[in-house]
Amino acid sequence: MKALVYGGPGKKSVKDVPMPEVMEPTDAVVKVTHTTICGSDLHILKGDVPTCEPGTVLGHEGVGVIESVGAGVSSFRAGDRVLISCISSCGKCDYCRRAMYSHCTTGGWLLGHTINGTQAEYVRIPHADTSLYRIPPGQDEASLVMLSDILPTGFECGVLNGKVAPGGTVAIVGAGPVGLAALLTAQFYSPARIIVIDLDDSRLEVALRFGATDTINSGRELAAEAVRLLTDGLGVDTAIEAVGIPATFQVCQDIVAPGGVIANVGVHGSKVDLHLETLWMQNISITTRLVDTQTTGMLLKTVAAKKLDPAQLITHRFRLEEIMQAYDTFANAAQSKALKVIISA
Ligand code: NAD
Ligand code: ZN
Repeated sequence: MKALVYGGPGKKSVKDVPMPEVMEPTDAVVKVTHTTICGSDLHILKGDVPTCEPGTVLGHEGVGVIESVGAGVSSFRAGDRVLISCISSCGKCDYCRRAMYSHCTTGGWLLGHTINGTQAEYVRIPHADTSLYRIPPGQDEASLVMLSDILPTGFECGVLNGKVAPGGTVAIVGAGPVGLAALLTAQFYSPARIIVIDLDDSRLEVALRFGATDTINSGRELAAEAVRLLTDGLGVDTAIEAVGIPATFQVCQDIVAPGGVIANVGVHGSKVDLHLETLWMQNISITTRLVDTQTTGMLLKTVAAKKLDPAQLITHRFRLEEIMQAYDTFANAAQSKALKVIISA
């Protein structure tokens, strides 16, 4: 079968690789109908993720149809249409029993990282019963790919950890797919104000369309001052960091109001200064999280009920044989205005 294979830092290619097979009784093999590319795939290609070995098929997002299941899989059978979670989880270990699936002792972020992933014709899913979700009939399956990773990430790491509440004020630093996913799901809670901060005007325009009350281009104005002007000098109750660099974590420290929360979502590759000399008396909290995908089932219901439209995040569509072009489009988001690209079988 055809797959997008990581070849070491800076290298990727479409290759013929062996079809995956059921290896453990709890595995399923899924025929991938739609997948996508994530910022984390670009991180791997830059060489930032040494735990991903050359030769690995990339991709941790997707939907598909079950091809075969192991004898220990009881919830699914061949022919079922499923959503693949970016996190595989056994459902039984101590972390899973606490719904911290991202830290499952035999799971976590495996797909397209430590085992072959979804940017292929077929993928093996470990712990299938607790890592796949049945797709309700009548759904736009391609758009459900947004529920494999980015919507649960924005919602769990940003909105839930950030304690977004009715009437509250929220700032989201970073209007990439993850920041925009936080923007869409923050609106479940009716905050009074959602301020989105980015350097890219076209992403800020998207943010306004998606329900931001205000936007700030931090390349042109000082973000912290602009937020203070918008909030009567107080700052925000929730500051969501959705970039992953020291400068944007600093903005969050500068704008969090007394009693507020800094909810870190970004993957940080270098150390960041923590200004306890000013924050110690502010009654704030700082949270971090690897997405658990504990809310995937809930998010599927909000999509089915038309409270959330994941299709809005899709800007480009490709076939699997065009995946190299899809990578170019996604990696050059500033020019292509790409948010998420869908790659279909
Ligand atoms: P992205 O790169 O598409 O988006 C980042 C956005 O930040 C871009 O729009 C960019 O213009 C903006 N930006 C860059 N520098 C900025 C600055 N100085 N000030 C303001 N804005 C700036 O990334 P994404 O896919 O949306 O992901 C966001 C972050 O979330 C990444 O770090 C990603 O690795 C991380 N992530 C975390 C988890 C988790 O489980 N915690 C899961 C998935 C992704
Ligand atoms: Zn587990």
